[in-house]
Amino acid sequence: MAYIIVNGLKVRKDVEWSNIGLNPVTGCGHWGKTPYCDIWKVCWAEKRAKMNKGRFGYPKPPDHFKPTIHEDKFKVPKHWKKPRVCATCLMADLFSCGMPDEYIKRVIQMAKDNPRHIFMFLTKAPARASRFTFPDNAWVGTTVNTVIDISRIYQLKNVTCGGRFISFEPIKQHLHMSGESLQDIQWVVIGSQTRPTVHPPREWVDDIIDSADKFQVPVLIKSNSNYEPKRFDYPLTIRMVLEGTPFNEIS
Ligand code: SF4
Repeated sequence: MAYIIVNGLKVRKDVEWSNIGLNPVTGCGHWGKTPYCDIWKVCWAEKRAKMNKGRFGYPKPPDHFKPTIHEDKFKVPKHWKKPRVCATCLMADLFSCGMPDEYIKRVIQMAKDNPRHIFMFLTKAPARASRFTFPDNAWVGTTVNTVIDISRIYQLKNVTCGGRFISFEPIKQHLHMSGESLQDIQWVVIGSQTRPTVHPPREWVDDIIDSADKFQVPVLIKSNSNYEPKRFDYPLTIRMVLEGTPFNEIS
């Protein structure tokens, strides 16, 4: 895994909001089912699952992206010596339709059993996430690419967890963020499309930043963006864990 230093913090190069990844569950019930997921045809996680087909616990095609549990991964966080901020189940949408409740509960229990670390969940289905109880060391985020996705922000606000974050990566439309959209959100991450690289117009990004600033929401502008000046804000608890303080020792 490649790392970069952002604002003095060593983080994953691809996911600048974490410093490790773990996939105890892979797959997604949204795959191939528009309109649940508007970008399923270019789903990065599905492509990776296809590369691993029939190996490392991934089913063979056509089931390679079927919700799948990987028992051996649940014990891994116990062996992390340093506190970690973990991008959890990025090779899945853990809250997608078709994902068994049992799998979701197992992953949440893993977070509860490992209070030294922070577990980050990113989903396009925050409404389903709101039906589960998360511990304080779990953050839940949602992806917003288009105007229609803005409803996910309001669904995310119903999730009770340690923190809520929005990933605006990539921004496909002018979202016209305004009003109270980002109230009660704890972190905003903004990034550009990669492969091929497409940077959003500056005013689209400015709108999001203005909306975040209105509620003092920290903003992380990822290194893949051409926006200047960058903002490298990390929420205090995330920063402290990335710097090496166990989450359960933060008062
Ligand atoms: S993992 Fe995400 S991008 Fe891929 S099909 Fe599921 S919801 Fe869509």
